[in-house]
Amino acid sequence: MTQARPDTAPEMRRIPSVERLLAHPSGLPLAEEFGRTALTAAVRDDLARIRAGEAPGGDEATILARCADALAAGRRPSLRPVFNLTGTVLHTNLGRALLPASAARAVEAVMVQATNLEFDLATGNRGERDDHVEGLICRLTGAEAAIVVNNNAAAVLLVLNALAMRREVVVSRGELVEIGGSFRVPDVMARAGCRMREVGTTNRTHLRDFADAFGPATGLAMKVHPSNYAITGFTAQPDPDALHALCRERGVPLAEDLGSGSLIDLAAYGLPPEPTVSAALARADVVTFSGDKLLGGVQCGIVAGRKDLLARIRKSPLKRALRVDKMTYAALEAVLRLYLHPERLRDELPTLRLLTRERAEIAEQAHRLVPAVAERLVGWATVAVADAMSQIGSGALPVETLPSAALMLTPEGGASRARSAGGRCRQLARSLRDLPVPIIGRIKDDRVLLDLRTLEDETGFLDSLSAL
Ligand SMILES: *Cc1c(COP(=O)(O)O)cnc(C)c1O
Repeated sequence: MTQARPDTAPEMRRIPSVERLLAHPSGLPLAEEFGRTALTAAVRDDLARIRAGEAPGGDEATILARCADALAAGRRPSLRPVFNLTGTVLHTNLGRALLPASAARAVEAVMVQATNLEFDLATGNRGERDDHVEGLICRLTGAEAAIVVNNNAAAVLLVLNALAMRREVVVSRGELVEIGGSFRVPDVMARAGCRMREVGTTNRTHLRDFADAFGPATGLAMKVHPSNYAITGFTAQPDPDALHALCRERGVPLAEDLGSGSLIDLAAYGLPPEPTVSAALARADVVTFSGDKLLGGVQCGIVAGRKDLLARIRKSPLKRALRVDKMTYAALEAVLRLYLHPERLRDELPTLRLLTRERAEIAEQAHRLVPAVAERLVGWATVAVADAMSQIGSGALPVETLPSAALMLTPEGGASRARSAGGRCRQLARSLRDLPVPIIGRIKDDRVLLDLRTLEDETGFLDSLSAL
C-alpha cells in the first residue's frame, strides 16, 4: 500500500481505483454486457463525481451498481414510443399519424434489403422514385401527376420556387397564414425567391382584385387553406371556379395549399368537413398537402396536379434536395393502398379509426379501466371518468372538437412533496412522463386528464402505469 499524501482528505483515500472496480466480481458481468470501454468510462465518470462531491462514495459494489444504472439509462433510445393521451389525435410534437401495421411491415422490408427505388424492373433501366406512388395518388385524387417531398412545407416551397422564382405570386390578404412552427406564407414565399403580391383586404377579397394584379410579372396565383383560424362576419373570397377560369384565361397557374387535405369526405364519417384533394384539384392546377395529417400516413408533402406543371417542378434542383427516402415511399404506398378499399378503411387506418370513435365507446372503456388504474395510482391520485373534448390537431380548426371521455386524475397530498394542488398536479404529470413508456396527458384545473380516444393498447398502458 502506498502512503496517502498529507493533503488528501481521508474520504478521498477510500475511493477505490478504476482497476480495482473493473476487477471486482460485480464488475465483470457489466463489462460483458456493456463492453469494457463503456464500463471504464462509466466508472471514471462516477469517480469524478465522487471527487467533486456530486455523488456519495461507497464501496466497490455500490459504485458499480450506480454505474450499471447509468449504463442502462444510457442505452435507452432518445426517440421512443409514448402514450399520447392529450386528446389531440394528430399531435405534431408526438409524431402525428400512427401508421397501420401493413405500412410498418412494408417499411421494414425495404430497410433491410436492396430495393427497386429508382430501378425499372421491366426494362432494367433507371427508374423514377415517385413512380411507386404516383399512380395511386392520381387514381385516388384525379390528379394527372404527383410528386413526393419531405413535408408539406417543402411541397409549398418547391411549387413556389419552381413555378414563380423571381416572379410575383398573387395571394389574398386573408390567407397570409402562419401555421405554427415557423411556417408563415410570406416568409416561405421570400425563401422560395418569389415576390408576394397581396390583394384584397384581411376580410374581403374579390375576383377583380386578382384580375387587376395579374400582369407580365405574375408567375402564380395562390390559395392557402386557413387551417387553424376562421375569418367570420363581413367576409368574401372569390368564387373558386371563377378564380380558376380567370387564371386559365390569363395563363396564370393556380396553386392551392390544402395543408391537411383529406382523400375522403370526412363529413360522411360524422367528422367536421375538410376540403378533399379531389375537390381542390377541380378548382386549382396544383395542390399541396401533408402525408401525416388527415391522410394518416407518414411525414411527407405531396404535390398533385397538372402534368405540364409537375414536369417543371420535377426538374427543379430543389426537388433533389427535398426528396424522401425509400422508407417513406414504402409507408406511403401501403397507406394509399388502404384507400382502394374504402369499406375497410375505418378499421385499418389508425387515424380514421381514432377520429371516428364514439364518445359512448370511449366512456365505456374509461369506466372499465378505472379500477385497474386506481389500483396503480394508490397514494398518487384518485381516478374518475370525465367528459372531454378531443381535437383533430395538425392545423384542423381548433374549435372543431370531438366528444370524448377521459380518466381524470386528482393528485393526493401523500405521495407528493409539493404543497399546492398545482404543484402536485405538475409532479404527477412529470412522474407519468418518467414511466418506461411515458404517458402524456393534459393538465386542466389542477387535474391530469388522460383522454382515452387514442388509447388502444390497454395492456401496455397498465403495464407502464404499474412502474409508477
Ligand atoms: C400543416 C400545414 C402546412 C405544413 O405542413 P407540414 O407537413 O407540417 O410541413 C402547410 N400549410 C398548411 C395550410 C398546413 O395546414
